[in-house]
Amino acid sequence: MKVPMLDLSEQYQILKDEIIETLDSVMTSSRFILGDNVKQLEASIAKFVNANYGIGVANGSDALHISLQACGVQAGDEVITTPFTFFATGGAIARAGATPVYVDIDPVTFNIDATKIEEAITEKTKAIIPVHLYGQAADMDAIMEIAKKHQISVIEDAAQAIGAEYKGKKIGEIGDATCYSFFPTKNLGAYGDGGMIVTKDQQLEEKMKIIRVHGSKPKYYHHVLGYNSRLDEIQAAVLNVKLPHLNKWSEMRRENARYYTQLLNEKLGEKIVTPTEVAERYHVYHQYTIRVKNRDDLQSFLKENGVASMIYYPVPLHLQPVFAHLGYKEGDFPEAERAAKEVLSLPMFPEMKKEQQEYVVNMIAKYYEQ
Ligand SMILES: *Cc1c(COP(=O)(O)O)cnc(C)c1O
Repeated sequence: MKVPMLDLSEQYQILKDEIIETLDSVMTSSRFILGDNVKQLEASIAKFVNANYGIGVANGSDALHISLQACGVQAGDEVITTPFTFFATGGAIARAGATPVYVDIDPVTFNIDATKIEEAITEKTKAIIPVHLYGQAADMDAIMEIAKKHQISVIEDAAQAIGAEYKGKKIGEIGDATCYSFFPTKNLGAYGDGGMIVTKDQQLEEKMKIIRVHGSKPKYYHHVLGYNSRLDEIQAAVLNVKLPHLNKWSEMRRENARYYTQLLNEKLGEKIVTPTEVAERYHVYHQYTIRVKNRDDLQSFLKENGVASMIYYPVPLHLQPVFAHLGYKEGDFPEAERAAKEVLSLPMFPEMKKEQQEYVVNMIAKYYEQ
């Protein structure tokens, strides 16, 4: 058997007629940029996550960058985030001209350790970007309390966590702005790049909508420096077809996660660490990530036996060469560094079959029997 990290083909077969129909209507209308499909998606995503406004942008990385700019982050400012995330989180901060200030993670959730944020705050701190890694919310109560006390913005990187919840609240209704990615492999994936910001703040929404069209308002009059970052009609049309299925897909991911955990605990016990779902967080399992000691060796064994797996992420951001000038060194964030050496994400997608999951777990068990 061969088990891929994810397989989008079944989903396409189910939605094919609707998708072809909606794509045809976009082509027939000849309206490709900022038309009705984008407007509809902005409204439905905002509603889905209990926010007021949605702002469709070109991708999740731009969503972060535009949010930072709209919140007034500029050159010389500092923005606190986790080093254990995809590059875009730190990259967006640096692209905004600010300095990323990293804070170590909680080894249980892999998210920023909120108890360590306050010691990283200085007069220059303008924002915190918590990342809801793998689909589980960061500790938002603690983060919001610190942000309120120091009057700084909270911009959530929810690229992996659309539909996730924290203490009964949707991720999207808590921070000042929340950023989503519609990269094809994300839980709500387009057929190309796409992104969305949601906010409850009308002033932020207005700024973001101006930034995504070169800072132009009215057209051809530029008061702020923006750039071109728009979600296009084709992607929005596809996402309008997919969004009504998202809750069901999240439930299917959760069921797959539950089955993985049951099988892994039965067959491997203490040898590996399965994901922990913290109380009162609705985890949407963008990734199902285990921790193991001999990770690289296990990964090669799985590959030889037809099982795909991925390392998200092998190098924490404070040790990335492009951030060398920030002066961080190995040992600065021991939990993030240890996670980078131990994590392994297993195949995960809603339509995954029980037999595929059993095969994955049997191969992991076989590795430990050698
Ligand atoms: C995917 C991702 C992004 C970036 O999204 P793109 O749409 O690929 O630009 C940012 N942060 C995290 C945590 C991601 O997983």
